[in-house]
Amino acid sequence: MFKHLKPAPADPILGLTAAFKEDSNPDKINLGVGVYRDFEGKTPVLRAVKEAENRILANQETKDYLPIDGTAQFGHQVRKLLFEQKLASDLDNRAVTVQTPGGTGALRLAADFLHQMFPKTKVWLSEPTWANHPKIFQAAGLNIGTYPYFDATSNSLNFEDFCKTVAAIPSGDIVLMHGCCHNPTGVDPTAEQWRQLGEILARNKVIPLVDFAYQGLGVEIDTDAVGLRKLCEFCPDVLIANSFSKNFGLYQDRVGSLTVVTNTENEAQSVLTHLKTCVRTNFSNPPAHGSSVVTEVLQSVTLRKVWLQELNEMRVRIDSIRRLFVEKLKEHGVTQDFSFIKEQKGMFSFSGLSKEQVAVLRESHSIYIVDSGRINVAGITETNIDILSSAIADVLA
Ligand code: PMP
Repeated sequence: MFKHLKPAPADPILGLTAAFKEDSNPDKINLGVGVYRDFEGKTPVLRAVKEAENRILANQETKDYLPIDGTAQFGHQVRKLLFEQKLASDLDNRAVTVQTPGGTGALRLAADFLHQMFPKTKVWLSEPTWANHPKIFQAAGLNIGTYPYFDATSNSLNFEDFCKTVAAIPSGDIVLMHGCCHNPTGVDPTAEQWRQLGEILARNKVIPLVDFAYQGLGVEIDTDAVGLRKLCEFCPDVLIANSFSKNFGLYQDRVGSLTVVTNTENEAQSVLTHLKTCVRTNFSNPPAHGSSVVTEVLQSVTLRKVWLQELNEMRVRIDSIRRLFVEKLKEHGVTQDFSFIKEQKGMFSFSGLSKEQVAVLRESHSIYIVDSGRINVAGITETNIDILSSAIADVLA
């Protein structure tokens, strides 16, 4: 059966990590995959997470299955985080949350649900976007389209063309937007721009799907949620796929969720039945560990405080490394203006390096970044920043 099967191409992001591991250069640097690293280049287990794990281990009495949609407590805590107390209680009857394996699982659940219930719906993605987005929706059988997002000459949002394209999208289609820390550009709409987008989508009955993988890593948890909260003010139906991989450092525990806001309580309950059917025929029910940790941290006043402090530490480090990176590039003789790197939000910097320059960085300097020129700033440390800056200066010369 498999004799004529050709190998599939490596994943554009995770494939880089595999190549990095095989590289024998002691100065190699991996700035491909979006994983946070501290001053020492390590991806730590958060203190709040360790403490929650200790508590769970001490008190766990069963490993019985979780409900198909995860626990009610987890769903409740997720909605409080996404919407804050007031909006969460306003939406309580008409929003449902289903726990998923990571943010990827949430996107795939949304995709399966949409394909099964609304097979003709098209999903519109920003150009550029996370490399996995088009593949997830296509794998579920949906058609995709793109809308302009980024202006490479000014390194900023191309809001005018973004709005023009969104305004022409047929009603019933889905527009996927990054809630904050846009991947790969690091450029987000302002609160006022989110409001305008909300108006356009509501007027045209186009449904937003918010991919929210970096809450707390842009400005802080509530400011980062401004966009999705604005959309909920205008649009009766909103889908939100969130991830706890980055903001809880729970990458390998695969914890995320899909929240669907609908117009009425009946609609919400009906949507939930279909989401549960999709889960049942895919992974049956979710893993417990990561979601128990998230629930424990968010329910505990003290652990929540520790978590917010740790999240703040991560963000402060990313911001300071952005500033240092811009300085170091100058110091190593780069004359091109890279000051925009300081303005971008989240883990990534869209460097503007070409595919060819990225290839030279990899082949001649063992520096691994994504072909689009996206650099994981959270992977730069004081130890590797000079090697990196000098290599970039070399490639640009
Ligand atoms: N959406 C975006 C934009 C992402 O960058 C990521 C992670 N790279 C995800 C979703 C999924 O995250 P995970 O499945 O690891 O939780």
